[in-house]
Amino acid sequence: MIILKSPDEIEKIRAANRIVASALASLKEMVCAGLTTGELDRVAEDLIRSAGARPSFKGYRGFPASLCVSLNNEVVHGIPGKRKLKEGDIVSLDLGAELNGFYGDAAITVPVGKVTDEATRLMTATRESLYKGIEQMVEGNRLSDVSHAVQKHAEAAGFSVVTDFVGHGVGTSPHEEPQVPNYGPAGTGPVLKRGMVLAIEPMINAGTSDVEVLGDRWTVVTRDGRLSAHFEHSIAVTANGPDVLSEPVGK
Ligand code: MG
Repeated sequence: MIILKSPDEIEKIRAANRIVASALASLKEMVCAGLTTGELDRVAEDLIRSAGARPSFKGYRGFPASLCVSLNNEVVHGIPGKRKLKEGDIVSLDLGAELNGFYGDAAITVPVGKVTDEATRLMTATRESLYKGIEQMVEGNRLSDVSHAVQKHAEAAGFSVVTDFVGHGVGTSPHEEPQVPNYGPAGTGPVLKRGMVLAIEPMINAGTSDVEVLGDRWTVVTRDGRLSAHFEHSIAVTANGPDVLSEPVGK
């Protein structure tokens, strides 16, 4: 069942998401060669707690940190630790927060110094594919219109879509129905209704779409070792069109 949210509930989901968005903006500014992934996690947790919220990934199904930090060929769910960022890396930061029983969830991929042209093109195409999906979050469209728009844009740029992991509804739980694939034909699935809140999160690979999970049981990597990027927003379907709840205040 897809839970529809009232305007008041959407504002509560927005409040949680703004904490996430603000923390991600700060983390993006911090990213530089020599910084450890564990330092990013510690700052993420501090920012969320100092805003009065709770880092929702920490302990979720046993995940040991507040921030997922996925480098280069890592797709999602990388565990932060002692590893240092290096010039030329791309780093995906995925963060969740719970505030007064409502959840926020967003992700960005950031370059460390100067990166390859391919890495830049991959990050750009992934972010653009997220916004192509967001554009489809209009009352009366079908869920797979979102999925199809993401896939079409990513593939037109010459990249491939990860199919083993998908987006999701978000609200009073971190993951609610429906699942939101980043691929598929247009025009199928549930009709989008006012009050639906979805986390759309394209995971796009430079090479093939195949992924595998490492022995730590969390880190998802590309099977061919090539780069992967990830962007995510939480978005409400409203009478006025898509409302991106995880954009920073003032944007
Ligand atoms: Mg998510």
